Amino acid sequence: MKVDVSRLARMDGAYQDLAFEGFLEGQPNDQGEVILDRPVRFQGRIGNAGGILKLDGILETEYAVRCARCLEDLRIPLKAEVHESFAYAGNTDGGGPEDGAYYRRGDAVELDKPLLDNIFLSFPQVWHCSPACRGLCPVCGTNLNQGMCRCSGDLGEESEASGG
Ligand SMILES: [Zn+2]
Ligand SMILES: [Zn+2]
Repeated sequence: MKVDVSRLARMDGAYQDLAFEGFLEGQPNDQGEVILDRPVRFQGRIGNAGGILKLDGILETEYAVRCARCLEDLRIPLKAEVHESFAYAGNTDGGGPEDGAYYRRGDAVELDKPLLDNIFLSFPQVWHCSPACRGLCPVCGTNLNQGMCRCSGDLGEESEASGG
């Protein structure tokens, strides 16, 4: 999504409300293990703070991924706060733009890349269907959340020495 900032960029303190719902440019349908198959909603604003364009808002979407232990399909809702700034491309005198800033090119800023980056940044390192997921039996592949298999029974069950 491109936003025309030609007016904004000339007025310190000005801002423009943004509401967007759709797929982002470059949104990978299948990013390794994560499937970003739902549109992204963004609500917020872009403003001029001392000549720097700042983007603030809330990003929401949903994605599909598998539990790392039991391989169950999961759908994960995602909601992230976005705070990004855009510097002028090519403005390198006077210290230059902050590290990690996005750039304004001509009269437009592209929101797709910063929004996508925020999605990726909000991912956890690993996904589990629940913290207590028991995973799959390494021997027979049974989903141990759904029940014990013969092998785990053999490995784990200790016959109680109840004299009878
Ligand atoms: Zn699991
Ligand atoms: Zn087993």
